[in-house]
Amino acid sequence: MHPVTGTCLSGSCICGDVRCDIQLPQPAAAYAPRRCDCDFCTAQQLLYLSDAKGQLRIRANTRLTRIKQGSEQAEFLACSHCQTVVAVCYREAGICVGAINASLLQPQSQFAAPVTVQPKLLAAETKTERWKQLWTPLVVEEAS
Ligand SMILES: [Zn+2]
Repeated sequence: MHPVTGTCLSGSCICGDVRCDIQLPQPAAAYAPRRCDCDFCTAQQLLYLSDAKGQLRIRANTRLTRIKQGSEQAEFLACSHCQTVVAVCYREAGICVGAINASLLQPQSQFAAPVTVQPKLLAAETKTERWKQLWTPLVVEEAS
């Protein structure tokens, strides 16, 4: 059973075609969004938020654009209209996990101060193991 302190947050891309919801077992203040220091994430001002015990759902009225970056293990999900990245995801057999772009969730002040991470310094295998531990089970509903 989830405690009553759980949090449900939602956001959308800039044009509104893609909506994302995340359910978290802890209050928002317990989470420090992660800022990745790679060029791609810095340019997009991406902030990641996830909890392996949560649930992440993306609903798109349009097709999602899938972008691969860096070691090409993870996929960024972006709105095909406004190009806003709403989440990053990782898939392997039977597993689909993701982290939401927390910069779409307002107010930012509800979260703990962001921390900077350097995933490019991790080996490929370490990275996928880390994602499976940290990221949130993800469901994507997408228009065809
Ligand atoms: Zn959009």
